[in-house]
Amino acid sequence: MPVFPADSVHIRYAANVLREGGIAAFPTETVYGLGADVFNTDALARVFAVKRRPRFDPLIVHIAHRDTLDALVDFSVLTPPAQRRVALLAETFWPGPLTLVLPKLPRVPGLATAGLATVAIRFPDHPVALQLIGAMGENGAVAAPSANPFGYLSPTRAAHVAAQLGDQVPVILDGGPCRIGVESTVLDIGYGESGKADTPRILRPGGVTLEALREVIPTVEIVEIAAAGNVPSHDAQSSPGLLKSHYAPTTPLYLHSREEMRSLPKIPGHAYLYMEETVQKSAARLFDKLNALDHEGYTAIHAELAPEEGLGLAINDRLRRAAAKTGAGQDHR
Ligand code: AMP
Ligand code: MG
Repeated sequence: MPVFPADSVHIRYAANVLREGGIAAFPTETVYGLGADVFNTDALARVFAVKRRPRFDPLIVHIAHRDTLDALVDFSVLTPPAQRRVALLAETFWPGPLTLVLPKLPRVPGLATAGLATVAIRFPDHPVALQLIGAMGENGAVAAPSANPFGYLSPTRAAHVAAQLGDQVPVILDGGPCRIGVESTVLDIGYGESGKADTPRILRPGGVTLEALREVIPTVEIVEIAAAGNVPSHDAQSSPGLLKSHYAPTTPLYLHSREEMRSLPKIPGHAYLYMEETVQKSAARLFDKLNALDHEGYTAIHAELAPEEGLGLAINDRLRRAAAKTGAGQDHR
């Protein structure tokens, strides 16, 4: 198995692999990423191939210095208020689990952005990720989707990556379990291009909460979160990541409110996944627990939904997309 401890020797090794056009998996504070040099289109193509990710689903570009934004983003397209929003958000939430969708410079390959005029950028809060990206040289950047096969649960441990993609990835850096455990919040900065309001919008809830964003920018909106496995998101085209079914286990998954969960009859062969005492802990363990239950031979998994606030929005978003394949799951007993 290509799993190595994330010490400086192996980080340098992984950086060499990336610089030579290869791919490498590495930890971040959200989930494990499958990285490639953003400027190497062959390497980007390899990421899509290994994940079996459709090319219409763009990647997040990871940076290790704020100044690298200037090498990727066309700030001249942004209105002055949008420029101020970027500065404020970067100052407040970076490094951290916030991805900003910004107008791209021509030098950012269209493969990384699925042909969109925008590029999604994040400055991760993890020493291994930052050392790896930093080793790519000045203005180096690493395009990295989550290191899982497309549509499956995201990996929060090196062992998840090894089990899912281990035969196709030459190096997996093991930095232990991910602290946050759900993916970054994806925020479209809003810059008033034709047909769109000059309003920042959350395209995917994640590690930075709506409430925290609104403390800094009160006008932040959130696009309708995919409802419990029935309606396709109306935004699926402008943000391809908003797919109705995603992050899904193989075992049928049914969702329940806290009260429903307490009154469910316990069926042999079914698993029951409860929220933890804090929402942070629930998020940190969500994918790990789903992943484990998915491999334990159950015929169904029942999961408790989180309260619809704070990190609970990200948890429930992942749970609903994970249950979407199961069908009219929510009312199942
Ligand atoms: P992943 O890295 O696999 O967790 O997924 C990346 C997420 O970022 C997906 O939801 C993408 O649709 C979203 N994303 C990446 N680039 C863009 C972009 N230019 N515009 C809108 N969403 C994006
Ligand atoms: Mg993903």
